[in-house]
Amino acid sequence: MSTLLVLPGDGIGPEVIEQVRRIAGRLINDLTIEERAFGGTSFDQFGTPLTEEALAVALGSDAVLMGAVGGPQWASAPRDKRPEAGLLRLRQAMGVYANLRPAICFDALANASSLKREFVAGLDIMFVRELTGGVYFGQPRGIETLADGSKRGIDTQVYTTSEIERVGRVAFELARGRRNKVTSCEKANVMETGLLWREVITALHARDYADVTLEHMLADNAAMQLVKNPLQFDVIVTDNLFGDILSDEAAMLTGGIGLLPSAALGDPGKPGLYEPIHGSAPDIAGQGLANPLAAILSFEMALRWSLGRTDLADRLQGAVTAALDDGARTRDLGGSLTTAQMGDAVLKGL
Ligand code: NAD
Repeated sequence: MSTLLVLPGDGIGPEVIEQVRRIAGRLINDLTIEERAFGGTSFDQFGTPLTEEALAVALGSDAVLMGAVGGPQWASAPRDKRPEAGLLRLRQAMGVYANLRPAICFDALANASSLKREFVAGLDIMFVRELTGGVYFGQPRGIETLADGSKRGIDTQVYTTSEIERVGRVAFELARGRRNKVTSCEKANVMETGLLWREVITALHARDYADVTLEHMLADNAAMQLVKNPLQFDVIVTDNLFGDILSDEAAMLTGGIGLLPSAALGDPGKPGLYEPIHGSAPDIAGQGLANPLAAILSFEMALRWSLGRTDLADRLQGAVTAALDDGARTRDLGGSLTTAQMGDAVLKGL
């Protein structure tokens, strides 16, 4: 029996996770689903975005599936109590250092991309973003007041050999099961961490993965290439900051934020953290307008990467494709289905 912890969170989080629960109930018998408050919802209830108890359950589960966190009502909470702080703490405590973000263009949606169909039909990129290091965590950081009364903001970009190597390893391993190509992105021309990144990835490749095609690309060039010729990419591995930006850019090639799942993985055998890439969408929360497919496909990734059920993951992926081929569309995809009706369409595909 496997255990999945769901953390519905805030805004549209609970609405999209509800559809995952319906689908999980149909798809799999030997899965225990636990649920805990998270983010702003947890702050309101317990005064913290992530309780120690919820964290302990997360660490003891086989996989954790999150909805979304955040919203304007918590913008004035102390920085360390904000919903996003809970998410950063969860990621760090789970040791999930590799963020997998597939950018797949479903054929039925190729016309919804911001690029012409011929540039995106068949698109299947796997981003591997370093998730627990780099400028989002580096010390020192903060805003200080200078002698003349003006202020100075500081963030520190820092990477060690082992942090780069372990995420590089994930990328090379994934590439072997795909089209066998890794593009590593940094700014080796202007950043010390970029130089080290390139050096470590090059050495890892030569030592253990010489069978995989490796190319290095400056991150700014990658941003251009993603809109010029996205079909050239297979696996892209990059740091936390560049990965955040480049994977959002790629998201727009696929037809919408409501479709995109992600996984965050640590060392083998540890639970993975799965979440849609979208936020809590306060503008549409509570109206039944949210597209649940990103959450459903995040569950699909959990089945594949943490729950050992590739067979069910394939079935679920097939059901989503069938629903889209059948014309199922929520409002963000130009249709009129509600969140629950999109859930129905996937259930029908199953
Ligand atoms: P957002 O992703 O919540 O919304 C951006 C736009 O996309 C909105 O117009 C929204 O309606 C739409 N959208 C998002 N998901 C959708 C879905 N499933 N179906 C249909 N439309 C969808 O980003 P934002 O507005 O910048 O942020 C809102 C809040 O979410 C903020 O508090 C932010 O900090 C938080 N956030 C959380 C996460 C996370 O939980 N991992 C990620 C990003 C943003």
